[in-house]
Amino acid sequence: MRERMEKALSSSDAEYTEIRIENVTSSWANFRGEDLDNIGSSRTLGGIVRALVKGGWGYATFNDISDLETRVREACESARLVGKEESKFAEVEPVVDEITAHLGKDFREISLSEKKSVIEEYNKIILGYHDKIETSNVGYGDSFRKVWYANSDGAYIEDERPDVGVAISATGRQGDNVQRGFESVAGSAGFQVIEGLQEKAEVAAGRAVDLLSAPPVTGGKYTVIINPRLSGVFAHEAFGHLSESDFVYENERMKKLMVLGKRLGSDILNIIDDGSIRGLRGTHMYDDEGVKTRKNYLIKDGILAGRLHSRETAAKMGEQPTGNARAIGYQHRPIVRMTNTYIDKGAATFEDMIKDVKLGVYALDMVGGQTSMEMFTFSAAYGYMIRDGKIAELVRDVVLTGNVFETLMHIDMVSDTIEWPPVGGGCGKGGQSPLPVGLGGPCVRIQNVVVGGRQQ
Ligand SMILES: [Zn+2]
Repeated sequence: MRERMEKALSSSDAEYTEIRIENVTSSWANFRGEDLDNIGSSRTLGGIVRALVKGGWGYATFNDISDLETRVREACESARLVGKEESKFAEVEPVVDEITAHLGKDFREISLSEKKSVIEEYNKIILGYHDKIETSNVGYGDSFRKVWYANSDGAYIEDERPDVGVAISATGRQGDNVQRGFESVAGSAGFQVIEGLQEKAEVAAGRAVDLLSAPPVTGGKYTVIINPRLSGVFAHEAFGHLSESDFVYENERMKKLMVLGKRLGSDILNIIDDGSIRGLRGTHMYDDEGVKTRKNYLIKDGILAGRLHSRETAAKMGEQPTGNARAIGYQHRPIVRMTNTYIDKGAATFEDMIKDVKLGVYALDMVGGQTSMEMFTFSAAYGYMIRDGKIAELVRDVVLTGNVFETLMHIDMVSDTIEWPPVGGGCGKGGQSPLPVGLGGPCVRIQNVVVGGRQQ
């Protein structure tokens, strides 16, 4: 493949050209209530050529990989039609590398019927849990992506990207009161990560039933502690997206708000995006422009320290590439994306964080949310009141709302351990969704958070 790709690249007359070819096998199965709703598998082979001429990008996507020269010529032609300024594209040292996935149980060798029976068991556990369980939704999905990447700088990378996950949802009903319990597990280590999740199915069903009798939280301003899953969502959704340089570059208001060196939080606050942490869902050795991933501080000791770049945004803003150009598949160009985004651990224990809270809310996991510029709304999956320094009753409808910059300033304690719950799902941006990302972190304590009723 290398020879064919390099030969095609050598025929290019663009300033920069790259070819990415992918062979993707995937399978899925889904139960909705008693019914097997959807099951299937697919195999696709395709690629994309991207060429840069005078600041303009030309693309050619294809499924037939037999005539790469022609695809390169097509991409160059379209680039010439749109290019009318000076190209800005950061230099990086070209690498040649081959990354092989190490799967415990290779899900490509497991039959669809076995995959189905694993989730069928979880589904039965939910449906048989309690007579207040109205329905269930249990889904399985896997994909194995083999990527061949070459560019005109001389980089050549072969990469294997496996991902497998299960999402388990239980719905309980009592009259008009409908509550959900949700658990998911995903990872790159192999089929075994989704085996043995009977307990997760029980937990999801149990939560749906327990929430039926839990009172809604009383709206107000509270000291809130968020768990690792929710602090990961906060770091990603509320702040991480504002650190994506394509967004900053195109937005005058954000350019003013996101000035490097500006204080955004107290000294204990560090927010990091790191695509090089082993074993997480947002982890890759290289991004989709051949740039090595690395640990990037977005906020260091409370100060805005960096942002996420593609090679193009780095050059345009006079900064270094960070290894954050990612594409969800060969049909798409790489754009600036997060990898594994988190608030770094601090020095407090959970007991330290809770012991002087007279009245507060411990908010866990997440079922939904919205962000609009610096405003966010997150619906926690469930919560507990904190009363006189202790965890008290379960509450539902825990919705956290705020301005991210004010909220960052109100973070006053961060726990001393980081967890990366192996949850599924992913990030959506520019029509590319769901991109696997890592969501995790420590427990984080925030003062003066507006907690309100649930928005359905
Ligand atoms: Zn996102």
